[in-house]
Amino acid sequence: MNQMPRDLPNKTKTAVVIGAGFGGLALAIRLQAAGIQTTLLEKRDKPGGRAYVYEDQGFTFDAGPTVITDPSALEELFETANAKLSDYVELLPVKPFYRLAWEDGFVFDYADDQEDLDRQIGAKNPKDVEGYRRFLAYSRDVFHEGYEKLGTVPFLNFKDMMRAAPQLVRLEAYRSVYSKVAQFIEDDQLRQAFSFHSLLVGGNPFATSSIYALIHALERKWGVFFPRGGTGALVRGMAKLFTDIGGRIEVNAEVENIAIENGRAKSVTTKGGQTFPADFVASNADVVHTYAKLMGRSERGKKHGNSLKKKRFSMSLFVIYFGLKTHRPDIAHHTVCFGPRYRPLIDEIFKGKELAGDFSLYLHNPCVTDPSLAPEGMGSFYVLSPVPHLGNADIDWAVEGPKYRDRILDYLEELYIPGLKDDLVTSRIFTPADFKTELNAHLGSAFSLDPVLTQSAWFRPHNRDDQIPNLYVVGAGTHPGAGVPGVVGSAKATAGLMIEDAGLACVPA
Ligand SMILES: Cc1cc2nc3c(=O)[nH]c(=O)nc-3n(C[C@H](O)[C@H](O)[C@H](O)COP(=O)(O)OP(=O)(O)OC[C@H]3O[C@@H](n4cnc5c(N)ncnc54)[C@H](O)[C@@H]3O)c2cc1C
Repeated sequence: MNQMPRDLPNKTKTAVVIGAGFGGLALAIRLQAAGIQTTLLEKRDKPGGRAYVYEDQGFTFDAGPTVITDPSALEELFETANAKLSDYVELLPVKPFYRLAWEDGFVFDYADDQEDLDRQIGAKNPKDVEGYRRFLAYSRDVFHEGYEKLGTVPFLNFKDMMRAAPQLVRLEAYRSVYSKVAQFIEDDQLRQAFSFHSLLVGGNPFATSSIYALIHALERKWGVFFPRGGTGALVRGMAKLFTDIGGRIEVNAEVENIAIENGRAKSVTTKGGQTFPADFVASNADVVHTYAKLMGRSERGKKHGNSLKKKRFSMSLFVIYFGLKTHRPDIAHHTVCFGPRYRPLIDEIFKGKELAGDFSLYLHNPCVTDPSLAPEGMGSFYVLSPVPHLGNADIDWAVEGPKYRDRILDYLEELYIPGLKDDLVTSRIFTPADFKTELNAHLGSAFSLDPVLTQSAWFRPHNRDDQIPNLYVVGAGTHPGAGVPGVVGSAKATAGLMIEDAGLACVPA
């Protein structure tokens, strides 16, 4: 087949990327490294998006992602700019990966040590040792098909979906994560231990495709990491790399309009009235916000925005960041505190009209890995509770937030952190209402579109718009979906299209 450049560039092409979350940063690095002069416009006062950082009285609080997996994707990203990840940030291994704890006192330390896993599983239910091995083999199979082969491929045509279909059928991707886990594992708490992972990327284990069981194999393959200095240090490293190679970042630059003329994106304008013309426009902002609001003046924006609003959205989160005057080395870096109910609680989180009476929590204690995140001898924590999004439960968070915070802190004090309230130095909350106003997240969803099979791959908003050929989306709302590896993968898929469209890569004639 002939190879020819699609477009011979006679001047440097320009791109604007809206939003500096992990997806926007990774895309901007790839574009700039490929020779497209790129400007990154971020609404807030610093990059990071969900991975924002709060600093308060000497405590550093990572706002969002804390479980960093697949370092190879980050290494590859830095290599595209001829740089080394380790020159910008150090990734520290976390052991155990997670501690899983239940109210009845059962504790399971999940790590990459087969012997220790066998011992713990065998002590709980001897039959599940063999079941776990079969589950791991299944997880590795879906990891290969779903992540290694398809994780960074843009699904632009239904044909792409059809090509993947036989493997999806073979792997029974139409079944849920939980039903697949239950096929291999008998014990109720172990079933929870091996199925909760999809919640980390906003997927209901009882509804999300079993493809998401791949997260287990992904963690076993590379491990779980935490950047020295916190996830914020990784964000800062990516932002520095981008500017080191000539990219431009503007913070406090909220975009309010993407101008579409003659079927092409022409420029973007910020609230402050600055206009940035560009050959290519990509948005890392929420997909509904991008189409319905930023492109709301165009037919395409109105129509596609309305159709996206009819999709199912993932749950929201309620987060409490708190600093204690004591360091608590006995609490693992990552602890999942399972409540008394599993499926009924998850049902209420995804479909409920109000807050459930009980909760399951994720507790972050980063100072066991990096004590520099708090003043000497002290501890910086966060705890999150998955809660319904605002479209399901229209809760007045200004009223309910402080009450909910007190309930959660009481619970933690009783079961996990004795003396918590006496030791409390500072705390702040982030609610579904904040996801909506601070991050422009539709319905305050923490993870964008619910990653069910009918909203995945080709069924998710496409990395390049179907009608406007120089408009792209990147991040949690597009393929492959939420989570740091997901959005870094989406940046690779989107960048591939943009670089090819800029004529900087050869395409089949
Ligand atoms: C509390 C929490 C914990 C999590 N934990 C993990 C974890 O441990 N591991 C993991 O892998 N994933 C985790 N996730 C998921 C992961 O953080 C996200 O899926 C991922 O960071 C999303 O990145 P993104 O690039 O899609 O978008 P975002 O991070 O949301 O970035 C979008 C950016 O666009 C900006 N923006 C919006 N509108 C505009 C506008 N009009 N103009 C300019 N800028 C705009 C926003 O301010 C934001 O900075 C967690 C998420 C949350 C909320």
